[in-house]
Amino acid sequence: MVSSKLQLPFLTTHAFLLVTWHLLVPLARCAVYHSLAELPGDLKLFDFIIAGGGTAGSVVASRLSENTNFNVLLIEAGPDTAGVLEIEVPGLIGQINASIYNWNYVTTPQPGLNGRTIGVPRGRGLGGSSCINGMAYSRGASDDYDNWARLTGDPRWRWNALWPYIKRHEHWMGAAGGRNATGEYDPSVHGYSGNGDLHLVSDLNAGKPIGLTWLQLTTGGGERWSAAKSYLGQHVRRRPNLTILLNTHVTRVLSIKASKPKIDVRTVEVADRAAGSRVTFTAKKELILSGGTIGTPQILLNSGIGNRTELERLGIPVVLDSPFVGEGMMEHVTVTLTWNIVPQNTTVIDPDVAWAMWQQNRTGPLSTPGPVHQVMWYRLPQKTDVLSKYKDPSSGPGSPHFQFTFGDQGRVVLLTPYSRGSVKLNSTDPFVHPIIDQGLLTHPFDLAALKEGIRTAKKFYTGPAWEGYVLGFGGPDPDVLSTEEFETRAREVARTFLHPVGTAAMSSKHSKRGVVDSELRVKGATGLRVVDASVFPLTPASLTQGPVYIVSERAVDFIRHSWL
Ligand SMILES: Cc1cc2nc3c(=O)[nH]c(=O)nc-3n(C[C@H](O)[C@H](O)[C@H](O)COP(=O)(O)OP(=O)(O)OC[C@H]3O[C@@H](n4cnc5c(N)ncnc54)[C@H](O)[C@@H]3O)c2cc1C
Repeated sequence: MVSSKLQLPFLTTHAFLLVTWHLLVPLARCAVYHSLAELPGDLKLFDFIIAGGGTAGSVVASRLSENTNFNVLLIEAGPDTAGVLEIEVPGLIGQINASIYNWNYVTTPQPGLNGRTIGVPRGRGLGGSSCINGMAYSRGASDDYDNWARLTGDPRWRWNALWPYIKRHEHWMGAAGGRNATGEYDPSVHGYSGNGDLHLVSDLNAGKPIGLTWLQLTTGGGERWSAAKSYLGQHVRRRPNLTILLNTHVTRVLSIKASKPKIDVRTVEVADRAAGSRVTFTAKKELILSGGTIGTPQILLNSGIGNRTELERLGIPVVLDSPFVGEGMMEHVTVTLTWNIVPQNTTVIDPDVAWAMWQQNRTGPLSTPGPVHQVMWYRLPQKTDVLSKYKDPSSGPGSPHFQFTFGDQGRVVLLTPYSRGSVKLNSTDPFVHPIIDQGLLTHPFDLAALKEGIRTAKKFYTGPAWEGYVLGFGGPDPDVLSTEEFETRAREVARTFLHPVGTAAMSSKHSKRGVVDSELRVKGATGLRVVDASVFPLTPASLTQGPVYIVSERAVDFIRHSWL
């Protein structure tokens, strides 16, 4: 396994500029405030305000505050995550305190999952979901982004056009402990030189992921590199033009300046608890929502920006009728597969030894999040029954339909679901969790495709390499169970792959669908942008943090160029 921490380049001119700004603007104090009460009363007006200090919010705040002329406020509902041991140590991922760093959302009973409700974890705290995620890093297929460009009518979303932003967020670190990882990645797509191969893919992040490949992680030197650690480290926190406000909930965004034909939204309302008094901050330039796929639509809907009928049902005054807010959520769906294997002589490492290794030089089992080191990305053959019956939902011939992970408990993940879900308000209280319906397995394509995916996984394990190791498939087996039995079983075990996206999707400026335009500005409004996974117009055939970093870096340049 190889790892890649996220990059924050240090500009050589920067120190000088910081000093100058500091002398000229004594009121602007860079600081991390742990509560609304701590924030000095005179700090009210900022150039940019970012609501949500998660994966995308950390990138946007960090990049915008590189310009010392911009005074930036970042507001995050959760606490600081710096120095939290379970977050820093990749192998302690299972011990992260979910009651502090996780929103712990739960879905509505899911008809496609036999009526089960399922948990929807989302990170809460500086760095957001990048502090609790599995750290696997993939960018997706070049076809995914080329398709985004088609859907939005904006060629700047093409893979080739995004390449500078793809490279910009990454700092290649190699394997933990300095292990020689030659052959496990393609150095050319990380800034050196090399080439790829189709079946044994030398690098999953070169835009052509189909095949078997080594996993890459957002770790570095045996530690997790969350968005907060990468983009909001100590040297960024020292910037006098950046203010970070923690443990503060964004309740609404407000339009306080009359303007036509678009509403002008640059004010954010916050509170530290449901009964707490509301405080507002106004951005001179822009307000950027980065609350994530659940948080962003919740804030918009609470603000009266959403489907008119839905808002009226709740008695929320309609500020902007934007029917697709919270709609069209896409999620990868996964089924766990079991294999009967010959018992192996495995070395069990004493937890005390593992801890000592990590403390000593950041190596050993705790330097990675788990035992999965390879993944396979697979595309259904065009002649498959399921693709004869349903229009191919993938972005193009270079984009996979499935991801497989291996082990005695493997996993098949459908990356191109047709099912869609939604986020709606439960109450007008912004502190009450919204109604989350992931809609998993509600479209017949998804289950039919999963069947084919499982058959492919079975075929993979019939290869000679597994002889004497894999004894048989433990199911759920579409070739042994009746159609009805298989479907019941699959619906019992299927779950979310933790990648919800698309609840404030971007679309072309002429389209009536979608919520934001291709520069991520909320349609029908000025002063308000969304930058996070909610803007994805279609889920990439990939894990989602990589695409969030790419979108965030791209968005920063849209914002900068608007204010040159
Ligand atoms: C458990 C888990 C495992 C995952 N594993 C992987 C993986 O291995 N690889 C991968 O690529 N992806 C993984 N993902 C997905 C990936 O981490 C996310 O897609 C990505 O981090 C989302 O980024 P974001 O900026 O859209 O949202 P987030 O990072 O979730 O940021 C949203 C931020 O907004 C804040 N917020 C929300 N509402 C408010 C409000 N009202 N006021 C103030 N702040 C608010 C939240 O607290 C949070 O900090 C995983 C996700 C989870 C939850």
